[in-house]
Amino acid sequence: MKNLVFLGPPGAGKGTQASRISESLSLPHISTGDILRASIRNQTEIGLKAKAYMDAGNLVPDEIVIGIVKERIAQSDCANGYILDGFPRTLAQAEALDTITTITMAVNIDVDGEKLVKRLSGRRVCPACGETTHVSNYDKPECPKCGVTLIQRVDDNEDTIRNRLAVYNKSTQPLIDYYSGKGILKEIDGFQDIDKVTSDIVDAING
Ligand code: ADP
Ligand code: ADP
Ligand code: ZN
Repeated sequence: MKNLVFLGPPGAGKGTQASRISESLSLPHISTGDILRASIRNQTEIGLKAKAYMDAGNLVPDEIVIGIVKERIAQSDCANGYILDGFPRTLAQAEALDTITTITMAVNIDVDGEKLVKRLSGRRVCPACGETTHVSNYDKPECPKCGVTLIQRVDDNEDTIRNRLAVYNKSTQPLIDYYSGKGILKEIDGFQDIDKVTSDIVDAING
């Protein structure tokens, strides 16, 4: 069973790495941010509730995201494990998660503050397939996978990025101690090239 949590500040590379490792280990990639953005696009009740929090870079209330994750990991494709990307983000979420499943490993991808601002302000995403890249990686703003014109997330502007980093430091960073205390934390240096980070994570998982 590989019930994995990917921890780390916004911009550390959680989504990039979860997507690659999901493919190589055949585990579903569950991103609460992606699920919430899809809910906003589809104008569901959850999307309508979540939008203002997300646009401001604040956390969506715990009960909403806990409900989303509870429902998602109960699906049959999660029977052999899953990668949670961006959840839990608060102690209350981590404790709720422990009442519905057993996390086998928490992978903490570590990168420092100013680097994160550069990564996030240059992040571009594909509105069609979800691929994530960075302005420094291309000449033309086209998705490397499907060719569609890349867009910038509304919360990837400098003011909102700084708020997200402050929210991370206050609410999410304590989870490092939470998982370390359970003896299931693996620390990964996220300030290396993307392929090296991937191979370090795969080594940690196959440990
Ligand atoms: P997170 O999901 O943790 O917020 P992302 O995976 O979306 O982070 O990555 C944030 C930005 O940083 C993206 O533009 C991505 O292309 C870039 N990025 C991710 N990993 C690396 C890395 N190891 N080195 C340089 N840039 C990276
Ligand atoms: P990032 O790439 O910055 O890590 P995400 O896509 O994971 O961003 O999350 C984007 C936004 O969605 C967050 O700023 C927050 O508003 C909301 N969100 C995602 N996951 C959670 C969660 N577990 N708890 C509360 N809010 C969340
Ligand atoms: Zn694409």
